[in-house]
Amino acid sequence: MQIHSKLPDVGTTIFTVMSGLANQYNAINLGQGFPDYQMSEALMNKVNEVMHKGWNQYVPMQGYLPLRESIAEKIEYLYKTKISPDTQITITPGGTYAIYTALTTILQSGDEVIVFEPAYDSYIPNVEINGATPILIDLKFPEYKIDWAEVRKKISSKTKAILINSPQNPTGAVLNEKDIEELRSIVKDTNIFIVSDEVYEHLIFDNIPHQSILRYPDLLQRSFVCFSFGKVYNCTGWKMGYCIAPAELMKEFRKVHQFNCFSCHTPSQVALAEFLKNKDAYLSLSSFMQEKRDHFKKLMQQTRFTMQDSFGSYFICGTYERISEEGDKDFAIRLTKEAGVATIPVSAFYQNGKDDRVLRFCFSKKKETLDAAVERLIKL
Ligand code: PMP
Repeated sequence: MQIHSKLPDVGTTIFTVMSGLANQYNAINLGQGFPDYQMSEALMNKVNEVMHKGWNQYVPMQGYLPLRESIAEKIEYLYKTKISPDTQITITPGGTYAIYTALTTILQSGDEVIVFEPAYDSYIPNVEINGATPILIDLKFPEYKIDWAEVRKKISSKTKAILINSPQNPTGAVLNEKDIEELRSIVKDTNIFIVSDEVYEHLIFDNIPHQSILRYPDLLQRSFVCFSFGKVYNCTGWKMGYCIAPAELMKEFRKVHQFNCFSCHTPSQVALAEFLKNKDAYLSLSSFMQEKRDHFKKLMQQTRFTMQDSFGSYFICGTYERISEEGDKDFAIRLTKEAGVATIPVSAFYQNGKDDRVLRFCFSKKKETLDAAVERLIKL
């Protein structure tokens, strides 16, 4: 039997390679983005409690209504925007699924989608599997800012959507108000959709306000905005998230969702409906994670890496020109094998493998993990 592959260019990714190497060499894993500490005891207990109470059958396709109501309350509190729990919110099995579903909802064969690189690894395959073409634009190294003049140049009659991600994986860059102004002026009077990946909404540092699309009604009317509970509550393995869109767009999103996932894990939805009312639990996340960023960045000063800025996400990038002239993949592999620290080479986030000799480090780890990793890196 032969399959005419929908993703002929996708092979074993560097993420799989690095995770395999990390295990094989017993390396400290600062590669993949997940916390190595426990999530909230109270939230775990809540899930357990509601399971015992019998919340183990399907909830409606759009998601458990009290959870959608809690999300709407949170959005109004944070972004001063009224969202209808009934027509504008759908609970999804994770943020990646929300992005995939949004793209599948809007894309037709031959469409183009603007994607900024380095890009989170699911975006380009998500566009291609829908028969559309990713139009790639490099973020400007080393600050990883968007070159809006280039965006203007690359917009065509085929442009169906612009995919944005702030705070950004892998770079930790964030969009500011000026970026939003640029985006606004580019899409005004067009039929271009925005898919906004905001899974790191609460992982933003230095008191920078998160420029959620939800703040801007003129942008929201053409947007699918995607979130992840895994990132908010230190439980990436839960794969729970949601998408917000205007009612008319959400109607179509739900048609795709209905025949794919239908309804998500019930006990976590029931537990989250109540837990989300606790503002402290999500508002305290940024200072908690900022402390980790600061700690890691300070420790890294003792090494010969040059760390870049990270204003959000789980990640910080660093260059190694004082250590080696190798390409970033070779260097990352050698670092795992010889120094016992796994990272991700940033060239892996470019379709053409553009190599600025940068590694991505994940700092959402216990202090002991970060300390032990840097102790190894100091020796280089
Ligand atoms: N978007 C970005 C930019 C991410 O880094 C991640 C997680 N690695 C996701 C989406 C996915 O979130 P989830 O696990 O909820 O699918």
